Amino acid sequence: MKPLVALVGRPNVGKSTLFNRITRQKTAIVDSTPGVTRDRHISPADWIGRSFLLMDTGGYSHDNDTISQAMLEQTMLAIGEADMIIFMTDVRSGLTYLDLDMAKLLRREFPDKPIFFAVNKVETPQLAIEGEAFRKTGFTNPYFISAREGSGVADMLDDIVKAFPDATAETEKDPAVRLAVIGRPNVGKSSFVNALLGTGRHIVSNIPGTTRDAIDSRFKRNGQEFLLIDTAGLRKRARIDPGIEFYSSLRTEKAIERCDVALVLLDAVQGLEKQELKIIQMAAERHKGILLLVNKWDLIEKDSKTSKKYSDRMYGDLGNLSWIPIQFVSALTRKNLFRAIDTTLDIHNSRQQQISTSELNRFLQEILQSAPPSSKSGRELKIKYMTQIKAPWPVFAFFCNDPTLLQSNYKRFIEKQLRKAFNLEGVPISLRFMRK
Ligand code: GDP
Ligand code: GDP
Repeated sequence: MKPLVALVGRPNVGKSTLFNRITRQKTAIVDSTPGVTRDRHISPADWIGRSFLLMDTGGYSHDNDTISQAMLEQTMLAIGEADMIIFMTDVRSGLTYLDLDMAKLLRREFPDKPIFFAVNKVETPQLAIEGEAFRKTGFTNPYFISAREGSGVADMLDDIVKAFPDATAETEKDPAVRLAVIGRPNVGKSSFVNALLGTGRHIVSNIPGTTRDAIDSRFKRNGQEFLLIDTAGLRKRARIDPGIEFYSSLRTEKAIERCDVALVLLDAVQGLEKQELKIIQMAAERHKGILLLVNKWDLIEKDSKTSKKYSDRMYGDLGNLSWIPIQFVSALTRKNLFRAIDTTLDIHNSRQQQISTSELNRFLQEILQSAPPSSKSGRELKIKYMTQIKAPWPVFAFFCNDPTLLQSNYKRFIEKQLRKAFNLEGVPISLRFMRK
């Protein structure tokens, strides 16, 4: 996923002007959730060969000199999801209390987020001198820019692009298994994370209804490190804010993007809902490992057949995603929590394994002998050999006389047998049939 840069500032400082300049008015993704003060715009942009997403956060404004709470919360939510921030002010209107408040807030609430401080509308040397006063915000390296004329914007973009997080470097150095804890609000994500880490860890922000940045947490089990990418932070506001959906799906998407294995939690009483299916599909499309956890299992009255019946019903809804393991846990009683973590490690290892070509071809010969493909219109599919292609998840290439002869049920059959033979439960795999 591309880095997300949020434009923050009072109304009229020039955010839309800068937004349009940087994105050159490429089609904006507009989220016009009712109740949200102003449409949020997100648009793709690039600068010296680096792509990113730019988000105009609208603007917070003031009622009687205090920042309107609802607008501020929207802005805070947006910033929480952004990788970095452009904080904009306007030299022509001078430094205002609102700017100073915002500066303080940003530093307090997002101490680790890169913030680029722009003083806009600086078109003359005189204005540049006046701009010096803006260092009082505590941001001592202002960029004097003119969004309208473009001056200063390139230098700022150079620095922004340099500060982009390097996602590949992040994963390469880190031996931890990266787990994303995802699911609808109230399924028990925070409880699950807290139960694993042992303490009430969530830091609640000083602004009512908002939370700080989602912070990754680490723990070790049997010598293996795990990184929890947690999306729980947005829960508190779920009932009051219609814009919440937008940010929580953004956060879920980002968490999935960064993880090795997605832990999808659902509420045992409520069962598998549409939204969960969507999340699961999102993780599968990105070829992530997946483990489905039915949480709050303590609330279900059960006998020896309950879990079997429950999972059978879920597999019915999961369709061709039946390779995803389902486990029953309780964050409250801590039942099966660590078993789930051990399973994620198995899934992670299987997802990374490289199976030798000779092993694969032994497997292939066995299948072709015991259950050869049925012929289609008289011509026979002949699979000559197979191999695993190097990729972040298992991709298998099958070389055959004519890939168009492959029937989908035979492909599904091979996939199933592969999973069985090589322990690929919870792991998305891809089969490619090529002509040879
Ligand atoms: P937003 O509310 O922060 O999105 O601000 P806009 O982009 O809508 O700009 C507010 C006003 O400031 C508009 O009249 C713009 O034409 C003007 N403006 C924006 N950028 C500049 C600039 O760099 N220089 C000058 N002089 N005016 C600007
Ligand atoms: P989140 O929004 O997904 O982070 O959900 P929370 O962790 O805040 O949990 C929502 C509610 O479900 C809270 O009242 C929890 O106490 C409760 N809860 C979480 N896990 C369990 C569980 O395993 N069993 C029971 N009975 N309640 C749980």
